[in-house]
Amino acid sequence: MYKALFILLLPLTLLAEPLFFILLGAPGAGKGTQGQKLSEYFHIPHIALGDLLREEVEKKTGLGLLASSYMEKGELVPDDLVLSMLKMRLNSADCAQGAVLDGTSRKRSQAEFLLANLPKGKYEAIYFSIDRDLLKERILGRKVCSKCSFVCHETLLPEKEKGFCDRCSSVLIQRKDDNMAAFLQRLAIFEEYITGVCDFYKEMGILRSVNAAEPIELLFQSLK
Ligand code: AMP
Repeated sequence: MYKALFILLLPLTLLAEPLFFILLGAPGAGKGTQGQKLSEYFHIPHIALGDLLREEVEKKTGLGLLASSYMEKGELVPDDLVLSMLKMRLNSADCAQGAVLDGTSRKRSQAEFLLANLPKGKYEAIYFSIDRDLLKERILGRKVCSKCSFVCHETLLPEKEKGFCDRCSSVLIQRKDDNMAAFLQRLAIFEEYITGVCDFYKEMGILRSVNAAEPIELLFQSLK
């Protein structure tokens, strides 16, 4: 009975148009939290370029060693280092039905590269609009899972068991670049490039803006 149902529904799954969400916003705007929720809801991978880079740093690969000096200061890692890694990730089999792309369009050059390299499908670029004053509190109190990158917050989204991830029970850590100096640098870089990125997605007719100050669940309802 289940087998018959599976065979019946399989073509529908295969025919469904791949769905790509491109999340844009300042550090602390909530892209990671919403990205994880969208990924679970639509059963598509959440690809955060920052997470991919942190994995390289952790593994001490050549790329990781080069990238870490930029990351610790809150600067962008040069395009020639990140874009080939992104392309390889997009070509993985698990992206066939789409993906949630987080932090993959930090400059117009990256946005153009991304659209040129995505498979055919439905794309939506979502700009997380938020008052700058809210960001500092979100970033400085943020804790992330050392294993699965799940995001918590000291006061705004506390974990159930102190110090451990709600999703996989691994240890929560504070990111090296979640300090005041690196945050201000990341924000300055964001301000420098975001207009060019949004202009590009507007020209492509796929940009929409959401109010990222809304509570997590409410914002998620408007995204999905
Ligand atoms: P995130 O986890 O998105 O806050 O990114 C952490 C850091 O990784 C950034 O401050 C940059 O140093 C680097 N990074 C992440 N995404 C990109 C990107 N698209 N281009 C260049 N550097 C990036």
